[in-house]
Amino acid sequence: MSDELGDADLERYARQIVLREVGPAGQRRIRDARVAVVGAGGLGSASLLYLAAAGVGSLTVVDDDRVSLDNLQRQVLHDTAAIGEPKTHSALRRLDALNPGVRVRTVERRLGAGNARELLQGHDLVLDGSDNFSTKFAVNDACVALGIGAVIAGILRFDGQVVSVPAGAPCYRCLFGDEPPPRQVPTCSAAGVLGPTAGVVGALQASEALRMLLGIGAPQEGRILTVELLDPRVRAVPFPRDPDCPACATQPEVPATA
Ligand SMILES: [Zn+2]
Repeated sequence: MSDELGDADLERYARQIVLREVGPAGQRRIRDARVAVVGAGGLGSASLLYLAAAGVGSLTVVDDDRVSLDNLQRQVLHDTAAIGEPKTHSALRRLDALNPGVRVRTVERRLGAGNARELLQGHDLVLDGSDNFSTKFAVNDACVALGIGAVIAGILRFDGQVVSVPAGAPCYRCLFGDEPPPRQVPTCSAAGVLGPTAGVVGALQASEALRMLLGIGAPQEGRILTVELLDPRVRAVPFPRDPDCPACATQPEVPATA
């Protein structure tokens, strides 16, 4: 896994290899990473494009939905010709065209508590860009139990949040407790969302993912980033472990390293 980068890779990734925090060793680490992205919608559009462009060697796209006309205002991974197609197919085509060096695997299934561990095991890191809390909690609980890092995000209107959960850190459930009842949660279809909100927050997820894979920057701890775009600001707040968190009780003794 530590074989040298070829000339084409040195050229393609030149602008990030020149970063002191990345370098050739970091680029090999990115190349050797296996990352799953749950949801190929607005958030997944941004995160998948940047992760593929950065050269993440193996990407798994999990989504059971099809492209519709009202997705295209923010789901920039897909195009008008893809309307009616499974999002996984459209994603595969676009990511392949962007970077043929990335192995893209597609899973056209809905991820839930019953299959999350099965679908996510074998990855080094998981990004959640799904549009509902039951998927987010299922991703969190599976990642904590498997010792995999997770970056879980959500958007609504002009706002978004990214919850970073490196392996072994306090988790999404430590922060939010139980899943809210579905009827109390506003949705993008009812409340709306400005397209670039998905781009900003999805790109932030990709940035957190690369930071976690490389082990660079701020301490690798549980933290929530909140993004507000109407009166623009970004805030980052670390959060503690909930000693009664049922997900963290399932943590493996030695977390898998990303
Ligand atoms: Zn927890």
